[in-house]
Amino acid sequence: MDLSKHINSAHQSFQDWRKTPFEERQKLLLKLADVLDKNKEAYAKIITTEMHKPISQSIAEIEKSAGMIWFYANAENVLKPTEIKTEFNVSEVHYDAMGIILGVMPWNFPFWQVLRFAVPAILAGNVILLKHASICFGSGDEIEKAFAEAGFPKNIFQNLRIGHNEIQEILENPLVRGVSLTGSEKAGATVAALAGKNIKKSVLELGGSDAFIVLEDSDYEKAAIDGPAGKLQNTGQVCNAAKRFIIHRDIEGKFLPKFIEEYNSYQPADPFKKETKLGKMARPDLADELESQYKKALKNGAEVVLALERISENEFRPGIIRVQEGNPILQEELFGPLAILMVGKNDDEILKLANDIPFGLGNAVWTKDKKRAQFFIENLESGTVSINKSTSSDARLPFGGAKSSGYGVELSLLAIKEFTQIKTVVGN
Ligand code: NDP
Repeated sequence: MDLSKHINSAHQSFQDWRKTPFEERQKLLLKLADVLDKNKEAYAKIITTEMHKPISQSIAEIEKSAGMIWFYANAENVLKPTEIKTEFNVSEVHYDAMGIILGVMPWNFPFWQVLRFAVPAILAGNVILLKHASICFGSGDEIEKAFAEAGFPKNIFQNLRIGHNEIQEILENPLVRGVSLTGSEKAGATVAALAGKNIKKSVLELGGSDAFIVLEDSDYEKAAIDGPAGKLQNTGQVCNAAKRFIIHRDIEGKFLPKFIEEYNSYQPADPFKKETKLGKMARPDLADELESQYKKALKNGAEVVLALERISENEFRPGIIRVQEGNPILQEELFGPLAILMVGKNDDEILKLANDIPFGLGNAVWTKDKKRAQFFIENLESGTVSINKSTSSDARLPFGGAKSSGYGVELSLLAIKEFTQIKTVVGN
């Protein structure tokens, strides 16, 4: 593929787009939300075909994406110059669009992850090149068509059907000003190094191994229902899913039977049936990886609570393992239908277990005691702390990671400024 042709045409479009008023851009976003809404069944079929998510969850992904676009279409213009009082007649902060921003995106939410990054960046006046996951090129094409159908100028959003080896050439081009990657630590580190070498801004949204903490004073019956949904949505392939269930030892006997019963109600079935709750994994090699992580955990002392059972090249009956501190599996992300169970004797021990991992995306704590909740809010090392609910993203609220889960902000009004150049204007 002639990448420079795509980069040059994106740059051409940027010259007008950067001057288009914020409110004009918002009108086009409203139309984009309508396009998604109108085509949601068709888009959902493409998602399920490409990465095997249950169809009802694919539809929900499109609805959530349309809602997020609607949020930005109605958002306050946070890019208006702001004034700072000094001895000068004029002292202002301006927010200029940066230019071409590359998105390197994963397969787990083929529309949501792309649009979540692209929409606020485009609203800020940037233009987008997308390198989608190799199994999701069809989704990428549909997103490009959706921008065209909504009436956006040509080349504001381009889907490039390329492999990840071509990312280097794009980031070396001086017209490309930044990159946002959602995916694994390995891909994130590679792309961030390339961006750093070329002095370009990067945003990384990487993996997680979030704790779902259930204290003895909580509504643990509700937690036992919410927990499996938090873990097994999208067949366990969610960055901020509940991955480690850390339970206060006083309720272990009451919580676990309900939790296991609910967890067991998620069984793999035809992803195209509306009632299916658990689909297939996106690729057979990802299923191989999960199976080898399961074996590694057991070899290092983990106990089987519910056996992980592989029933086809990319399908599992979901499993749960009980893991002790020090098991090397705790340093890894389990991206599939396999959950970790841990038990702690008090809040200090539970906090230590929760923080003792390389990641920090979205921990959840269940308690009725505000003081105990406050203790966890202040001390959990993660981009989000959810109280008495599973962690999920919300267009109105910032989303991002701590530690090896990445850096930078997505969603909320803050994300509109993420790919802008701050320009200080000062003088008399
Ligand atoms: P990757 O991180 O490899 O894929 C995500 C994106 O990065 C894809 O567009 C991919 O392109 C690209 N990519 C892959 N390798 C490189 C590289 N060396 N340099 C630049 N870009 C790269 O995810 P996988 O599909 O391999 O999944 C592996 C693991 O990553 C999962 O098991 C999970 O732990 C984690 N993951 C986390 C996600 C999240 O939401 N945080 C989403 C997906 C995966 P291409 O498809 O062409 O390789």
